[in-house]
Amino acid sequence: MDTDIVIVTAPKFLDGISSIINQQSPRTIQNYMIWKFIINQAGHMPRRFRNIVQQFNHVILGTSTAESRTITCANYVNTVMGLPVSKLYIDEYFDKNTRKETTEMINNIRNTFITMVNRSTWMDSKSKIIAIKKARAIKAKLGYPDYLESDDMTKLDKDFAEYNFNLSYMPNVLSAMQLHSKASLQMLRYPIDSKEWSDILPTNVNAIHRLSANEILFPAAILQTPLFDKDAPKYLNYGGIGYIMGHEIAHGFGDEGKAYDLNGNKVSWWTNATVNAFNIRKNCIVEQYNNYTLAQVNLTVNGQKTKDENIADDAGLKQAFFAYQQWAKTHKNVDKKLPGLTKYSTEQMFFMNFGHTWCTKMTNEAAHSYINREVHSPEQFRVRGPTSNFVEFNRVFGCITGQGNSRVNKCNVW
Ligand SMILES: [Zn+2]
Repeated sequence: MDTDIVIVTAPKFLDGISSIINQQSPRTIQNYMIWKFIINQAGHMPRRFRNIVQQFNHVILGTSTAESRTITCANYVNTVMGLPVSKLYIDEYFDKNTRKETTEMINNIRNTFITMVNRSTWMDSKSKIIAIKKARAIKAKLGYPDYLESDDMTKLDKDFAEYNFNLSYMPNVLSAMQLHSKASLQMLRYPIDSKEWSDILPTNVNAIHRLSANEILFPAAILQTPLFDKDAPKYLNYGGIGYIMGHEIAHGFGDEGKAYDLNGNKVSWWTNATVNAFNIRKNCIVEQYNNYTLAQVNLTVNGQKTKDENIADDAGLKQAFFAYQQWAKTHKNVDKKLPGLTKYSTEQMFFMNFGHTWCTKMTNEAAHSYINREVHSPEQFRVRGPTSNFVEFNRVFGCITGQGNSRVNKCNVW
């Protein structure tokens, strides 16, 4: 409707893309749109098309073989029927105690964060009061939307009633796409249903912070090893999912989070003094990461582009570590050592699992596109960056400031 209000979260992008579009011929734009459609659907098409995609991926990602059909098809079913798949996954694999355990962890980490806000020297008291209220109000959604837990399938039956897979394969794919778009468009002009997960599935290994709802989501699929296991020692869980919980919480209190209040409304809540003091600390982080080079492709990290994630990483590690320390104080000798690793202290093991969860190997092509596209730093710097700034890491491993990875000028936002 003409009177609709549209919220544009990235006006600069729209400005920029408009000028690029204006410079192109209609033919180029048409070709681009058809290309985007075909490349996204080519995986469903006969082998001769898939072979072309494979050649394309070889150049872009450095892959030498196509993904197995089993993986492709399973991913497809999960994309189209994500919530019914999630229901099956949860019933089969998700331990009922996980929600209780992870809720407890989030609350401990949230409390640690509140202490860090209170102690911070750059945030003024006015901003601190709002920050603490906001932190207390963050809603944590763990595992899956509640309605998936019951045996009542009414909602799923209703949401998927129109899905009908008795055409041939490609028409099935196209019809599912239409139904997906229809469901998305039907949400327009209705209030947001806070129970819906919509943009992330319980089967996704990921976590998000929705600034516009002041909530953090941790799907069932990320709540598993090596990040979390209900029977694992807590130092592993805090070094794994605990760090990610801290990272997601921190997103509500940086450059992006400062623009949203505790109800998720777009209201700036930092004083100018707090903004200025934050910027000095932020610039330290930008500089730090600008100096990291991904050796395998000899490309430097873009400190400016990755700053929000780097600041959240830095905060996440501290929150998880201090929350673990706090837990360990009240649960003396509960955490057992792991066979073969008894020579390491529980605190050392915390950091070791943190590093372990980020072990990654990339082809050179993938490394190139990672640096160009990603707002996260490459995994090795997600480990090296935060540990190099953390005095507790030095203490735990007996490192000397200025030697190895340990920075003399430590960048600290929190
Ligand atoms: Zn993040």
